[in-house]
Amino acid sequence: MKTMNLPLGVAVIGLGEYGTGELIPALQHTSHCRLTGLISGTSAKLKKYAKLYGIDDKNCYSYENFDSIAGNADIDIVYIALPNSMHLEFTLRAARAGKHIICEKPMACTADECREMIKAVEQAGVRFSMGYRLHFDPFNQEMMRLGQHEQFGTIDRMLLQNSYTIEPGVWRLDRSLAGGGPLMNNGIYCIQAAMYITGRLPIAVEAKFAPVTDPGKFKAVEEGINWTMFFGDGIIAECETNYSKEQNIMRVDAKDGWFELGPAYEYRDLKGRTSRGDMDHGPVNQQARQMDDFARCISENLPTRVPAEMGLRDIEIITAIYESARAGKRMELDLSAYITLPES
Ligand code: NAD
Repeated sequence: MKTMNLPLGVAVIGLGEYGTGELIPALQHTSHCRLTGLISGTSAKLKKYAKLYGIDDKNCYSYENFDSIAGNADIDIVYIALPNSMHLEFTLRAARAGKHIICEKPMACTADECREMIKAVEQAGVRFSMGYRLHFDPFNQEMMRLGQHEQFGTIDRMLLQNSYTIEPGVWRLDRSLAGGGPLMNNGIYCIQAAMYITGRLPIAVEAKFAPVTDPGKFKAVEEGINWTMFFGDGIIAECETNYSKEQNIMRVDAKDGWFELGPAYEYRDLKGRTSRGDMDHGPVNQQARQMDDFARCISENLPTRVPAEMGLRDIEIITAIYESARAGKRMELDLSAYITLPES
């Protein structure tokens, strides 16, 4: 793959809350990439954000004319921030257009969709990164270091909870767009954390759906789910996500002490504590660091620490968690294909 000169041009597709509230503002603070394009299904939004950020008309696309982005030399990377069920289509189209891709979590709705995306990216010879911003957050990186290097001895147990109260009527409650409920949206962070804290892959999962307290709201996706991840040697992660609760905790109990974040999964203002004292890190822009890192990986032909295979791996684990909750039994996992995946 040829090397590319920095900064790279990024076009954001999906001018919703995350695209306009976090990614586009973060692109004003990046060093190795910058905002050069916008794609939206709503022309009024295109006009508004193009004016706000000084984006040329020729770099603004609708879903219909998106494929003509192939000939646009200002745009190197397409950042997909659309509802989950649209990640597949726009990854295939961006790859066909010869653009590198950052895709928001979850990678797609099923493992087969993820595999199709990986194949398309390989065939097109473009690079792909997951939008897993917490790999670039210093508090979460500290949790990886403390856990993987056993700074508090071997880990016994993790408690990972990530929940918020969802408003009615949003696409996240529609299975055809979201692929699932809070497990796909927020639980995925707990799944990730359990692996990047231990540096291990789970060997089994056991899950149970939470009772439905609002049947009107939760017709198509689960309201909540509790699950345990088993890592061998007695190491377990007790996890919870729920669309009717507020939870934001990442806690590790180890032989010689404990370490935790809370809030743990937010964009900013995270807080960390250990049994030996508080963690201290200055503010960072997670998304700017994440995008800069990917631009450098492209430019210098380096592997990304959040590759497509990691997105697929996580959907495989999510699938097993759902199967376990439905079947009411523990599911064994064989993730040996992912053994060499970088975690931190
Ligand atoms: P959102 O609802 O705010 O925005 C979605 C965008 O998609 C909107 O611009 C909407 O117009 C467009 N869209 C196109 N077709 C649509 C359809 N059929 N139904 C609904 N919207 C449609 O959602 P969001 O919070 O910006 O989430 C977008 C993606 O980003 C999701 O995959 C989500 O999981 C991910 N996300 C990631 C993070 C993170 O921290 N990494 C945070 C929030 C969202």
